[in-house]
Amino acid sequence: MHLIVAEKNISARRIAEILGHGKRIVENKDAGVSTYSFGETTTVGLRGHVVEIDFVPGYSNWRSEEYKPRSLIDAKTIKIPTERKIVSLLQKLARKADRVTIATDFDTEGELIGKEAFELVRAVNPKVIVDRARFSAITSQELSHAFSHTTELDFALAAAGEARQSIDLMWGAALTRFISLAARRGGQNILSVGRVQSPTLTMIVDREKEIEAFVPEKYWQISLLTEKSGEVVETRHTHGRFHEKAEAQLAHDRTKAPLVVTDIKTGTKQDRAPSPFDTTSYIVAAARLGFSAANAMRIAEDLYMNGYISYPRTDNTVYPPSLDLDGILKDIRNSPFRKEVEWTMANRRAVPTRGKKSSTDHPPIHPAGPATREAIGDDAFRIYELVLRRFLATLAPDAQWKTLKVLFVAGGEEYTATGGQLLEPGWHTVYPFSEAKEMILPAFVTGEHLPIKKVALDEKETQPPARFTQSKLIQMMEELGLGTKSTRHEVIAKLVSRKYVEGTPLRPTLVGRAVIESLEQHADMIIKPDMTQTLESHMQQIKESTRTREDVIKESQMMLHRAFDQLEANEQVIGDDIRGRTAEEMNLGKCPVCGGTIAIKHMRGNSQFIGCSRYPDCTFNIGLPNAQWGFAVRTDEICEKHMLNFVRLVRKGARPWDIGCPLCHQITSNKESLAEIPSMTDVLASKIQAKHVYTVAEIARSTPEQMAKRLDISMDAAQQLISDAGSVLEKLRRRSECRKFLRERIIPRKGRSSAKILTALKDLGITELFGLAHTDAATLKKAGVSEAEAEQILTEAKLMYYGQVLKDIGIPAVSLKKYLSAGIITPEMFCERTPEALSKLAGVSPATVQRHVDLVCTFLNKPQPKKIPKLKIEKGKKELLAIRGITDSVVEKLLMAGITNTTTLLSADAGTIAAATGITVQKIKDFQAAIQKKKDTAIIQI
Ligand SMILES: [Zn+2]
Ligand SMILES: [Zn+2]
Repeated sequence: MHLIVAEKNISARRIAEILGHGKRIVENKDAGVSTYSFGETTTVGLRGHVVEIDFVPGYSNWRSEEYKPRSLIDAKTIKIPTERKIVSLLQKLARKADRVTIATDFDTEGELIGKEAFELVRAVNPKVIVDRARFSAITSQELSHAFSHTTELDFALAAAGEARQSIDLMWGAALTRFISLAARRGGQNILSVGRVQSPTLTMIVDREKEIEAFVPEKYWQISLLTEKSGEVVETRHTHGRFHEKAEAQLAHDRTKAPLVVTDIKTGTKQDRAPSPFDTTSYIVAAARLGFSAANAMRIAEDLYMNGYISYPRTDNTVYPPSLDLDGILKDIRNSPFRKEVEWTMANRRAVPTRGKKSSTDHPPIHPAGPATREAIGDDAFRIYELVLRRFLATLAPDAQWKTLKVLFVAGGEEYTATGGQLLEPGWHTVYPFSEAKEMILPAFVTGEHLPIKKVALDEKETQPPARFTQSKLIQMMEELGLGTKSTRHEVIAKLVSRKYVEGTPLRPTLVGRAVIESLEQHADMIIKPDMTQTLESHMQQIKESTRTREDVIKESQMMLHRAFDQLEANEQVIGDDIRGRTAEEMNLGKCPVCGGTIAIKHMRGNSQFIGCSRYPDCTFNIGLPNAQWGFAVRTDEICEKHMLNFVRLVRKGARPWDIGCPLCHQITSNKESLAEIPSMTDVLASKIQAKHVYTVAEIARSTPEQMAKRLDISMDAAQQLISDAGSVLEKLRRRSECRKFLRERIIPRKGRSSAKILTALKDLGITELFGLAHTDAATLKKAGVSEAEAEQILTEAKLMYYGQVLKDIGIPAVSLKKYLSAGIITPEMFCERTPEALSKLAGVSPATVQRHVDLVCTFLNKPQPKKIPKLKIEKGKKELLAIRGITDSVVEKLLMAGITNTTTLLSADAGTIAAATGITVQKIKDFQAAIQKKKDTAIIQI
């Protein structure tokens, strides 16, 4: 069998479809992983990397004394499968294969993924032939060439990728751990530091500092409006910017009619067609259409995988001679852009344009086949159109402009106007994405006099440098050699997700800035691009086999050790510094009660709340959901009413939960419960809010003196309010207990959630465990609970509800457990049976049972069951044993159900006794008949 290993499932399928040449492709699924077979060939797709490197076990404890962060630099690493199902399927197939072709993406990352597959294959089939197919587009032509000219895996290229992986792991893990521990941050709140990430963040921080340090300067400009043949023309003073207002004013005042045309210069300008797309210029062009860098790459990869465009990760801006431009044009004639393609074919320039960089791996990004909007969707089609039109533009002639510059003079002051007219639109015909704005001036004649309609003196200010947009940042990273064409957009996405930068354009957050500024002071080599550039050149050397991977890693380890010398010496300072700077990011504004500062506080064990800086003098606080629902952070928005920053809960992989203004949130979420206080009047409600009392709990916890003083009400009213609040609080507690109970038992499924069921139950009047314990399965089903769940919930609700009731009555926990497991659940059950029976059932001593029965009966306000003297019991037992079929064990059972003699057995309900004893109804009825018969005989005998 010939096994072909592709980088992803979708490319495995495409490859099979193309190489199968119309043969039937059989798709098989093995543990959820697809393979595609035709004839003797099978293709399988990986999921990118199917193994990852990690440290050998022992390094996972951050606070280990033995393994300090520095120890990660020299820690040994191992490869661990991350996609077990794919790995085992790949090895299963490899055992049967006699040839394996690695067909992963054609770049460093793809070569490394290929090498990982190679190692997995060789591990189970050491002799199998393994070759490599390289192609830049998943099209029939590229694939048939690649598969008929297979080569060897490029181990040097893969080694370069491996070196980068190891170094990134070591730098990232060691530094992140060190900085986070120094700043005492853990869990979801760690401070990550990375080899490429940190220098990139530094650029954003530096730009922000430039903007802050920028002092705007005033300048003045003069413009003059004139008119020719009914058309208004704007001219500008040739001096440009005036830095002195007086000077500008003078020039303005001297400008007097007439305005005379002194010179007209005409010329032509060549407007070169754009060069082919590499990854960076593609991202920049896509950004103009509104696509983020990450989105642009995702769509491009999709288009590549489906054979619509060539591989989008490339540094090349020169079409290689081997690229069949005519063939591509012919193919894309069948796209919706036939008109543009045919125009380009008819007007083709002699040689396609070329950019500055030429590399041997991939050609520049170009279309690979026809696509339609219906087939690929709106966004993908816009990207496809961009790539296609760019390709056409690189084959189209240059554009020609006619330029015109007119000089005027008025009162000795010189003015000028410029115009431009597109003589030959050239490439603009097929590429509308770059603006070509014409400015057509009326025909002027030298010496002619014109009217002055207006002379304006405008005061302006110099502007600070602009913040980076994502695409601008990617360009800058490329210039500085930071990251690769494949990773740059991912690095930026990481900075955003780690809350180091925010907004469009990008600006650093307080944390992002604190980390960078602190590193800058104490270990600046980590944030300078030099170190990363050095590594990139080392990687190049590995690719060219002039250096080994081990050698490069060793050098990197030494660099990092030097950084740690500096870092460890300053650990305390770095930690204090970062904490000092980031404390502010949790501040929300003024405390409404005392004027101190309220801030988000994160405690150990995921609890978080908003508290006042003047605690314990001021106890104002606002509760927040546990951090497992999202880590609370401050946002930029400010509540106009309370002047407090908004709060947001962020959780990895989930949509953020916006709380908004914490105080507004506090007020609205407590409105309902405050309204439940019977003695709460409208007047009182607004009064308590004005005095910054927001919750029922605060009222319930206050003393009458405090409340009376704070709200300026009578002691009686305060007393009433507090006691009412206490009951409401109790009710709220019971409701939340019921919600928690249900939430833990109702598994969310598609189309239903515990919230939905809770609302439905509320509508049915069930908000507390009491209600739940007294309802039935049918009601629960109505609320959306399944049959099986309903039984379970009812039983557990009863146990929990009555368990609490019995506990409140005074039954100690140890005995309670015994009663509950013996099925004695409700208080009523304590009065239905004799204490002796209870004692036997639950295994609690008779004296203790008696005490418990006393407690329960007092609680229920029921008479205590009469104690039956031993003698009487013995007499009853004898009576019962005299009945046919009643044995000692039957007597025992009957006793437990409260049946002590023939009289009680006769008058009892057969069904009830059967249920309580496990004896069949028929048998009980037989006993009763026998007793009755005996009784009748006795009467007759009399
Ligand atoms: Zn306060
Ligand atoms: Zn507010």
